[in-house]
Amino acid sequence: MKSEDIHDVITILREEYKHWQTPAVTIVAQCNGSPFKVLVSCIISLRTKDEVTALASARLFARAATPEEMMKLSEKDVSELIYPAGFYHTKSAQITALSQRLVDEYGGLVPDSIEELLTFKGVGRKTANLVVTLGFGKAGICVDTHVHRISNRLGYVDTKNPEETEWALRSKLPPEYWGDINDLLVAFGQNHCHPVSPRCSSCRLSPLCSRIGVKRTR
Ligand code: SF4
Repeated sequence: MKSEDIHDVITILREEYKHWQTPAVTIVAQCNGSPFKVLVSCIISLRTKDEVTALASARLFARAATPEEMMKLSEKDVSELIYPAGFYHTKSAQITALSQRLVDEYGGLVPDSIEELLTFKGVGRKTANLVVTLGFGKAGICVDTHVHRISNRLGYVDTKNPEETEWALRSKLPPEYWGDINDLLVAFGQNHCHPVSPRCSSCRLSPLCSRIGVKRTR
């Protein structure tokens, strides 16, 4: 695609978005915009289906919605509440440890900078970007596997991994789209532009898409 087509691409994605399932972490953010809940939900969501993340997050937040409340739960309690999320033992240890650190070092508040968030165990660039965008409404671009794959398929970037894609998007994606791009492309990737055999024949982006690396389509 041509770089200037990005405006048409975003317009089409926003129209189609209404018909797709929404990513679980976004649902949590839309409920109350708590940076702590976004952070914890992101940790739960790694290698876990969205439906499982949504239910696990709801169970956990019904018992503990702040770092202080989380400290009243044991690691075992957290494990049981987030089960069957993938790696629930590891995640419960991370959630407990980060809650303790937030209370000890940040007065119970989640920091709003990507650099500080990256110092927490279990927090990578994807999670840090999601927390600053969804939790604080600040500029950031969260690049996960869907954003990386689709940005390259469209021909908007030419990168080898999600971190390269984040930097490429930071340099060329108009800032007014930064807040939306993750939501739009995750939903698009889950519902239409699948990793294997994307639905190109019924895709409204088809006239603009370069289909880079796409071998089999529906
Ligand atoms: Fe994805 Fe195919 Fe649409 Fe391109 S045309 S965005 S590869 S579904």
